[in-house]
Amino acid sequence: MTSLHAHNKAIVANSESPFVKLHAINFGDCQWTKGFWAEKTQKAVDVMIPYMGDVLCGDIGHALNNFKIAAGLKTGEHKGMYWHDGDFYKFMEAKIYAYGLSKDAALLTELDEYIDILSKAQEPDGYLQTQIQLDPDADRYENRKYHEMYNTGHLFISACAHFRITGQRNFLDIAIKHAELLYTIFFPDTKHYRRFGFNQTQIMGLVELYRTVGDKKYLTLAQKFIDRRGTYDIVHDSTTVGYPIGDMVQERTPLREETDPVGHAVLALYYYAGAADVFAETGEEALITALNRLWESVTQKKMYATGAVGQTHYGASVNRDMIEEGFIDDYMMPNLTAYNETCANLCNAMFSFRMLGIHGEAKYADIIELVMHNSGLSGISIEGKDYFYANPLRMLHGVRDYDAHADVTETPDREGYLACFCCPPNLVRTISNLSGWAYSLTDNGVHVNLYGSNNLATTMLDGSAIKLSQDTDYPWKGLVKLTVDECKSGAFDIALRVPGWSTGATITVNGKDAGVTATPATYAVLNREWQVGDVIVIDIPMETTFIEGHPRIEEVRNQVAVKRGPVVYCIESPDLPEGTNILDVYIDGEEPLKAQSQPEFLGGLTTIEAKLLLRENKGDAMYRNVRKPKWQELSTQLVPYYAWSNRGTAEMTVFMPVVWR
Ligand SMILES: [Zn+2]
Repeated sequence: MTSLHAHNKAIVANSESPFVKLHAINFGDCQWTKGFWAEKTQKAVDVMIPYMGDVLCGDIGHALNNFKIAAGLKTGEHKGMYWHDGDFYKFMEAKIYAYGLSKDAALLTELDEYIDILSKAQEPDGYLQTQIQLDPDADRYENRKYHEMYNTGHLFISACAHFRITGQRNFLDIAIKHAELLYTIFFPDTKHYRRFGFNQTQIMGLVELYRTVGDKKYLTLAQKFIDRRGTYDIVHDSTTVGYPIGDMVQERTPLREETDPVGHAVLALYYYAGAADVFAETGEEALITALNRLWESVTQKKMYATGAVGQTHYGASVNRDMIEEGFIDDYMMPNLTAYNETCANLCNAMFSFRMLGIHGEAKYADIIELVMHNSGLSGISIEGKDYFYANPLRMLHGVRDYDAHADVTETPDREGYLACFCCPPNLVRTISNLSGWAYSLTDNGVHVNLYGSNNLATTMLDGSAIKLSQDTDYPWKGLVKLTVDECKSGAFDIALRVPGWSTGATITVNGKDAGVTATPATYAVLNREWQVGDVIVIDIPMETTFIEGHPRIEEVRNQVAVKRGPVVYCIESPDLPEGTNILDVYIDGEEPLKAQSQPEFLGGLTTIEAKLLLRENKGDAMYRNVRKPKWQELSTQLVPYYAWSNRGTAEMTVFMPVVWR
C-alpha cells in the first residue's frame, strides 16, 4: 500500500494503519440514495443540524456565546456543563458532514464564522477551554472534573474532520496549537498531571491528529495517557476532588490488566475506542488482548437487546467505588431503571467500528447495526428535534420521581434541549457520517458492513477505481442487490456481512448460486474476476422472532422481546386501551407475529401485529396470593423501539411476559 491511495479523508483515517485489516473509506465515497439511512441522513442535514445550531448558537444553548465571551466579542458568563465546548465541537463535526454531503457553501461560511470566533478565544499559547477561561475561580489543569481532556478530544476530532472534508486548515491549526501545548504539559511525568486522562476522548483525538499531520509525538502522547492510568494510589488529591475516583473513571486497574468493563460507560468506551486506535498504529499485543476481553464482556454480559450499555444511574463496583451512569454486574439488566445513555450506546458502536477494522470480523459490525437501528436512534425523535439522554427498556409512569434527577438526564419524554447536551450532537454526527462505515477496504477487496441503498465510488487500496450500487429496502426487507458499476480487471474480493441474527440467507451472482455458505456472523467472501454489470444478491430472510435473555438475567425471566432483523420492537401506550398499566401487558406466544409495512407512519416503518393479553392487577401489596388471571385479549401493533415516544407521553416496554397455553 502506498500513501498515494490512502483514504486519508476517512473519519477514522486508518487506511495506512499497519495493524488494521479493514480500512475505512473516505467520507463521501459512499452516499445513501434512498430508504432508511438516506432518509435519516437527509433529516439530519435538513432538520437535526439546523435546529441544533439554532439552539447552541442562541441563548438557550449558549455554547457559541461562551466562545464569543472568551474571544472578547460579547460580555457575559460561561453557561452550560464543563463539557459544553466539546459538545459544540461535536455539533460542528455534524455540520462538517452536512457540508460534505450537501456541498452547501452557506454551511462552510457558518463554520468559518465559528472557527474565527474559536481562534479569537484561543489563548496565545494554544489553550482553549471556555469553562476555565471564563471562571475567575478556576485555573488550567487544576482539577480533572472540568473535563478539559474531553473538550480537547472533540476539538481534535472535529478539526481533523473539517480538514479532511474541506481541505481548509483554519480549524486544524487551532487544534495543532492546542495539541502542542498539551504535549508540553502532559508528556513529562509530572505527579500533578498524571490523573488527568479522564473521559478520554483526547486519545482518539490525538491519534486522528497524528494520522492527519503525521507528527508521531501525538501518538506517543495518546499512548502515554493509557500507560499512566492505574499506576498511582486511588485516593483523592487536589486534581480529583469533586468527582468520583477509582473504577468510576477506570483508574484502579491498568488497561492491559483489566478483565471487566468498569465505571462510567461513556468514559470506559471512549477509553477503549482510543486504545483500539493506538493499537491500530502500534500493534501492541497486550493492548489488543485486553480490548478483546473487554469487548466480549461488554457485548456478551452487560449489553441490552437494543445494543445499549450502562445499566445504572447510580451503583458501585466490586472494589466498592461509587459508579455513576455505568456498568454494574454481569447479567444485571434492569429495564425500568436502565440508564443506557445515548452516548454510551454510540460509543459501543464506535469501539466496535475500531475493532471491526482491527479484526475484520462481522460480529463487530453486527453491534454497529444493532446500536444504530435501536438504542442509538432512540436518542432523537422522528421529527429530529427532541432528545433522550437515557434509553431504558421500559417506561412506567407514577413510580419514578423524574424531578429528583434534576440534572435532566432521565426524562419520561424526549426534550428539545438537555442542559447536559453531550448526547444530541454525538448522535447527529454519527447519523451524518454513518455512510462512512457502510464499506471497508482490504488489501484486495471491499467489505460490505452495513446495508441500505447507496452508491459507492471509491478507490481500492491498489489504486484501482471501484463503483458499486446497493439497492434494498433494508432493514424492512432483507433482499439486497449489489451491482458492479465499475471495477478493475483481475480477481478481487467482495465480502458481504451475513448478520449474526440471520438464518437461511442465500447469495447469488447473476442469478446463480454464488457457491459460498452464508454463515451468520461472518463475511461471505466472493472472490472472482468481476465484470461491470455483475449483480450480487444476498437475500436475508426477515423473520419476526421472539428473543429471550440469558437465564441469568433475572429481570427478563419468562419474558420475551420481539425482533425483526436488526430492529427491536416495543409496545407503547398509544396502541393499548386507555389507562392500561404497561406491567399488565403479556404477549400470546402462540399467535403469529405479522409484519406490516406502514410507509406513512412515524417516518415510514414496519410494525408488527401481535396478540396481547391484558390482566387487571390492581393490588399494591408487595406479595399476595394469585390465581390464573382473566385475560383481556387484544390484537395491536408493536413499533420499533427507536420510534417510541413520538405520539405523546407514553408507557412502553420492550420485554413482555409470554404466555404459551
Ligand atoms: Zn451523552
